Amino acid sequence: MADPKGFLKVQKRELPQRRPVSVRLMDYKEVYEQQESGELRRQAGRCMDCGVPFCHQGCPLGNLIPEWNDLMWRGEGRQAIERLHATNNFPEFTGRLCPAPCEASCVLGINQPPVTIKQVEVSIIDQAFSNGWVTPHPPERLTGKTVAVVGSGPAGLAAAQQLTRAGHTVAVYERDDRIGGLLRYGIPDFKMEKKQIEQRLAQMQAEGTRFRAGVEIGRDITWDDLRARYDAVVVATGATVPRDLPIPGRDQSGVHFAMEYLVQQNKAGAGDSVGDQISAEGKHVVVLGGGDTGADCIGTAHRQGALSVTNLAIGTQPPAERPDSQPWPTQPTLFEVSSAHEEGGERMFLASTVEFLSNEVGEVRAIRVAETEFIDGRRVPKSGTEREIPADLVLLALGFTGPESDALESQLGLPIDGRGNVQRDGSYETSQPGVFVTGDAGRGQSLIVWAIAEGRATAAAVDKYLEGATSLPSPVKPTDRALSL
Ligand SMILES: Cc1cc2nc3c(=O)[nH]c(=O)nc-3n(C[C@H](O)[C@H](O)[C@H](O)COP(=O)(O)OP(=O)(O)OC[C@H]3O[C@@H](n4cnc5c(N)ncnc54)[C@H](O)[C@@H]3O)c2cc1C
Ligand code: SF4
Repeated sequence: MADPKGFLKVQKRELPQRRPVSVRLMDYKEVYEQQESGELRRQAGRCMDCGVPFCHQGCPLGNLIPEWNDLMWRGEGRQAIERLHATNNFPEFTGRLCPAPCEASCVLGINQPPVTIKQVEVSIIDQAFSNGWVTPHPPERLTGKTVAVVGSGPAGLAAAQQLTRAGHTVAVYERDDRIGGLLRYGIPDFKMEKKQIEQRLAQMQAEGTRFRAGVEIGRDITWDDLRARYDAVVVATGATVPRDLPIPGRDQSGVHFAMEYLVQQNKAGAGDSVGDQISAEGKHVVVLGGGDTGADCIGTAHRQGALSVTNLAIGTQPPAERPDSQPWPTQPTLFEVSSAHEEGGERMFLASTVEFLSNEVGEVRAIRVAETEFIDGRRVPKSGTEREIPADLVLLALGFTGPESDALESQLGLPIDGRGNVQRDGSYETSQPGVFVTGDAGRGQSLIVWAIAEGRATAAAVDKYLEGATSLPSPVKPTDRALSL
């Protein structure tokens, strides 16, 4: 185990510094600095190597956390990356972007701050990439079977890497011009620079995975044609339909879905010329929705030079500390201060938007907001509490209702479940034999760690379908959810 007395000797949880706000707002580079290696080892040494490591249950991938904490404490980075890669294809994504449910279930967290698991994870993979320890693992033999993976987000990429390594010939189809799904065009560079995607794609290409960007299945190739061409098809198309706010004034110019805005900035960041880019420069910006997407809009708006940024959430402000109703080892809903929140702006809770107000030429100039009240469990605007907030740009970050399913229904006859997701059985298979669904398309908008876990499990199901048996790991079932009461 890592230092037997580590958790007694080092009681303080230390994370690396974030770059100063005034400096990082001048660029789109990642906000964290690297952690000094001695401090990282001390932090890894706080792991108690518990007899029952609850962090394993907290992590949907079942990452072998105490094992690699121990290896990092000993300075055995090369072995650490092997243990980490045994359960996680892309720790460079999760180590930067995961909300770390593992830390909520760390046993040390009962009476001390939990181990900095996510930081150890990202340090292992960063060290491995910079030392050239991440090498291709091409299959020893080919099965002669072909698989099409549609969608190149973390679920599709994880499924593709597992299936390629199992010897199948895998092609990944992506309608965007670049591979990566939301990692590429949703998540801003200040959370994860795109070189992280490029270096992983280089490994996958060297292993034999083929990538076909700029091809929309259902339009450029029909779903039934694709099914006929391949021995199996994996639908990893994400949950991309945004939740709208159909209130008076919704059609005014200056009111946009968050993804329209974030995609454009990510394209501009990649050096593309974006005509008529939606920009926050010199504007009063209002972001509706308090989740990850909302925080990404806040950080982007500040970098573009917004005059003010106001973030409205319809619900109550979550507590800063774990409440009694959400005890260890569940993942509590807490008031989160992400790097984007730290950079400025005002956050308002219990704020129900009732109307978008425009000027004489139809451009949004303000929003009318009321206090939220709860009536029979429903959230409604309280009459008499309305007020105006100036807004030249409004970004709707209200979540996603599910996958775009029209072509899947009409061309393949796939049923949609009661939550709007593509229906599948306990083995990720749809009603069409040989067609599987993974990630947000089957689960609904979720997290990167779940997408990777599902991609791995779906690959095992596909391999079994093609070969009759599989030795690929299957970390999660379609019905698994986060550890909660
Ligand atoms: C702005 C934003 C920020 C987020 N931040 C975080 C975060 O910090 N941490 C976290 O854990 N999670 C975050 N999430 C959630 C996370 O990104 C998703 O849960 C995850 O990407 C889902 O992976 P996926 O592979 O299922 O789908 P996606 O990443 O959505 O990828 C699906 C891909 O399929 C493609 N596609 C769709 N239809 C077709 C078709 N017919 N033909 C070809 N291609 C098609 C799409 O273009 C897309 O590239 C965020 C989500 C958003 C929107
Ligand atoms: S993937 Fe997420 S939950 Fe799993 S060990 Fe890493 S940070 Fe924790």
